[in-house]
Amino acid sequence: MTGKIIIDIEKCKGCGLCVMACPKGQIVISEKSNKKGYFPAKFKASDNCSGCAMCAIICPDAAIKVYKNCSTTKANNAQTANSTKGKA
Ligand code: SF4
Ligand code: SF4
Repeated sequence: MTGKIIIDIEKCKGCGLCVMACPKGQIVISEKSNKKGYFPAKFKASDNCSGCAMCAIICPDAAIKVYKNCSTTKANNAQTANSTKGKA
């Protein structure tokens, strides 16, 4: 499963918590400042984002939205537990 994030750069204060939290190293701090003068986080936009949402969870300003690409996840639905309660 892969994912991607969208960072609202005007909400971001450039604290860097998401950079440290991302287990895949998918976030860096931009060299361009936003309107408030902060240097916001920037998504690398590679295929390595897992969609784990650690970055969004840790962000104190709720500046990150996570999108998961669940393209082929139909496999595990076949097991519907047939609870046969012995009626007889
Ligand atoms: S969703 Fe997970 S892998 Fe993707 S950028 Fe955020 S912390 Fe990194
Ligand atoms: S945790 Fe939030 S506020 Fe801090 S750098 Fe990341 S997106 Fe910006």
